[in-house]
Amino acid sequence: MSEQINQVRIAELVKKYDQAGPRYTSYPTAPEWSDQYAPDDYMEALKVASNSPGEPLSFYLHIPFCRKRCWFCGCTTMVVTTPDAIDRYLDRVELEVAMVADRLGGRKKVSQFHWGGGTPSFLTDAQTIRAFELFTRKFEILGDAEVSIELDPRTTTRECVKLLKKLGFNRLSMGVQDFMHDVQEAIGRHQDSAMTISLYEICRTEGFESINFDLIYGLPKQSLAGFGETLDRTIGLRPDRVALFSYAHLPQRQPNQRSIDPAALPSAQLKSELFGLARQRFLDNGYVQIGMDHFVLFDDELALAASHGKLRRNFMGYTVNAAKDWLGIGMSSISYVSDNFAQNKSEIDGYSAAIDIGHFATYRGQRLSKDDLIRQYAIMEIMCNFRLDFAEADRRFGIDTRNYLKSELIELLPLMADGLLVEIDGGLEVTPIGRLFVRNIAVTFDTYLKKVADGKARAQFSRTI
Ligand code: SF4
Repeated sequence: MSEQINQVRIAELVKKYDQAGPRYTSYPTAPEWSDQYAPDDYMEALKVASNSPGEPLSFYLHIPFCRKRCWFCGCTTMVVTTPDAIDRYLDRVELEVAMVADRLGGRKKVSQFHWGGGTPSFLTDAQTIRAFELFTRKFEILGDAEVSIELDPRTTTRECVKLLKKLGFNRLSMGVQDFMHDVQEAIGRHQDSAMTISLYEICRTEGFESINFDLIYGLPKQSLAGFGETLDRTIGLRPDRVALFSYAHLPQRQPNQRSIDPAALPSAQLKSELFGLARQRFLDNGYVQIGMDHFVLFDDELALAASHGKLRRNFMGYTVNAAKDWLGIGMSSISYVSDNFAQNKSEIDGYSAAIDIGHFATYRGQRLSKDDLIRQYAIMEIMCNFRLDFAEADRRFGIDTRNYLKSELIELLPLMADGLLVEIDGGLEVTPIGRLFVRNIAVTFDTYLKKVADGKARAQFSRTI
């Protein structure tokens, strides 16, 4: 399989396929979930989950606090200046963890525990210990579990890294975005290279063997030369994993993004060239592409899982350890339990008020139908493993997949003619060039987007390229 992709051909395809569409961190996508889904529905899903006591769980803890809001950020976060607000939030987290543990009965084992935000490393040492221990009093983190946290190089100290190691964290993710000063100016996030390099070296000397960098392409002021420098510095440090996210400029939904000058944003063509540059640079330097937008060292367990078609993806990213059920704790967190999506309220007051009276803070969700599960499987296989094996889908769902998805297979013919995917013996396979357009392929299986006029339904999503 040639990894060299013809840039002229890509330019033609970008023109044709650059449109709004979901990133498919879930299917059905969150805007489709019902606001009629209530805390009682979530409790029922937890009750069903309690019937599998030996099955491990994945947990996500949302820490929604930052020192200052970056202009590009799309996360659910709030600025705080004193630790008191965080203490009060942890009071609610403690109650919510206890409520979940009660409903899950004897189901205690955890194979994945991730802290995201916001800025989890913004907590004081005492708060970090408290948040960890309130969880381990109720659940048992397995010896081979992934225990990960997102770090902000501007606020993380050596003492914090030592504490994380002592508590049992084994994977760190650092927000880098771009090393170039002019880009940082344009996104309202000043992070001197020395800070990033220093934290990286501290993490290595303190014994962390798995470090991820988050980079973003499509930011204002990015150029091929400047981004090339960011890539060189990244590759020089050699993080084990790099998440290369596409910047989604949605100022109508993210008011903080209105501070960004739209005239400084790269065109769709330049954006795809930035991705193409990064992809080639990583592939030339010992990294393997994982899913749509991640690169990992060739011997990383994600690379091995991908080569065996065993990669999984959830709201925490790509993983090999994802449990079937994952629980989100904290405001705005999303759970997937017993084939139900359930999301907590996204405002601190609403979240706190519900938890304070002993109720879950669920405000929307969805119980998946069999059709949802079939399409979820097809979309996740395409997004993670770049293929869809009909025989495996037949076995899982007791259907004739080729027949079940026959109208989608007809819709895919023009994409096949453009070389984005091919029919292989017993399934579909995304081609190397098709990996750049994998969201356009996945959207074919999404029935919800077809129910209303295409443009209207898609307008709420970011561009696919
Ligand atoms: S990018 Fe990170 S530090 Fe900046 S506002 Fe978002 S969550 Fe906070």
